[in-house]
Amino acid sequence: MNEKILEILEKQDPQVAEAIKNELNRQRFGLEMIPSENFTSVAVLEALGTVLTNKYSEGYPHRRYYGGNQFIDVVEDIAIERAKKLFGVPYANVQPYSGTPANLAVYLATCKPGDVIMGQNLPDGGHLSHGWKVSASGIIWKSVPYHVKPDGYIDLDEVRKLARENKPRLIWCGASAYPRELPFEEFAEIADEVEAYYVADIAHIAGLVVAGVHKSPVPYCHIVTTTTHKTLCGPRGAIIMVTEKGLEKDPDLANKIDKAVFPGLQGGPHDHQTAAIAVALGEALKPEFKEYGKQIVKNCKALAESLMKNGLKLVTNGTDNHMLLIDLTPFGKGKGMFAEYALDSAGITVNKNTIPAEPSSPFYPSGIRLGTPALTTRGMKEKEMELIGDWIAQVINEVKGYEMPDDKNARNETIQKFRKEIVKNQKIKKIKKEVIELCKRFPLYPGL
Ligand SMILES: *Cc1c(COP(=O)(O)O)cnc(C)c1O
Repeated sequence: MNEKILEILEKQDPQVAEAIKNELNRQRFGLEMIPSENFTSVAVLEALGTVLTNKYSEGYPHRRYYGGNQFIDVVEDIAIERAKKLFGVPYANVQPYSGTPANLAVYLATCKPGDVIMGQNLPDGGHLSHGWKVSASGIIWKSVPYHVKPDGYIDLDEVRKLARENKPRLIWCGASAYPRELPFEEFAEIADEVEAYYVADIAHIAGLVVAGVHKSPVPYCHIVTTTTHKTLCGPRGAIIMVTEKGLEKDPDLANKIDKAVFPGLQGGPHDHQTAAIAVALGEALKPEFKEYGKQIVKNCKALAESLMKNGLKLVTNGTDNHMLLIDLTPFGKGKGMFAEYALDSAGITVNKNTIPAEPSSPFYPSGIRLGTPALTTRGMKEKEMELIGDWIAQVINEVKGYEMPDDKNARNETIQKFRKEIVKNQKIKKIKKEVIELCKRFPLYPGL
């Protein structure tokens, strides 16, 4: 791969080409630590940029509403077979455009509007699509959210109590900001007792499940959903799977999922995306991928050690998976924004996040969420994590004194002043230079 990848685009549309190039360089010379992000292989990128985007293929392999699908069928069959093999399930649908549409298809297949559903509350680490109030999932279905305890672990007693009281039609187990192993087995007991559909959303941890460093939900749940672009290293996209247990509960479940995806929610599938998913699943089936998944977790534990050694507090005091949450409340409430901005200025990309029993608001939360999948993809190991942990602690040290006022006007003033000072901060400038040097030692793509 080289910088000439945009040769034709550069001539035809230099404006768009330049923005893409700038983004490429941002990815090359920064530390990408948002735990939901990753880098695909060159092969996945190649599959994405193909003529398959020109095709319409509504329907499923060998039963389409359009002609000319003989090669598209080959591609989609490969993707389905690889997904089934990788996760050990009897059925997979690879057409959902992304994780949220996949989850909506699950509701459409299993629930009627107004049915009660249960998922992890968004500010407690859950995902929007598990019933948050401004999402279609919380508008169309009656959402009864469960929470984490003050120690950061899912409150299983509350889940059981709410399930018995509300008799949900569907229960989600899965999260976007949870640093510990998900209790898949415990959720099965609760869901089975109230006869709910039990769906595991492994969007974040799919790659860890494949590598055997996170328990698989397949023996316990009825349906599994996952994105393909997080720890699975594929293109943006999603897969819905039905387990043997799911087919026992409802022999028509696979058919219902197919119908919910198309024609229920979507029209033509994105065939270029399906091809790239097939390629990514092929890579995930290789033995090296298991080593990769294990290294993600080793790196995350090393990063956690380094941060704690530097005096930072972590939610649950550590991590079992690819991510961790820094609790900034020892320095005061609502400091996530300051830390996110200062780290970004140092070339370290993370996101501000709520923490258990958040004392501030979701827009000015008191935590930082970060993870190791993307850095691990670049080949970094424990040694680099220790160094990065030191840098993160140093940057946070520079901003811990900033206070966010409650008054709106005063707040804007504080933010303006803060940003000006960060730009001039010598320590942060120095770390940014060191970050760039480290990134050069771990090229994003061969030759880049
Ligand atoms: C990322 C994520 C999704 C959805 O992803 P999109 O592709 O952004 O719609 C769903 N569930 C969980 C738990 C996630 O973390």
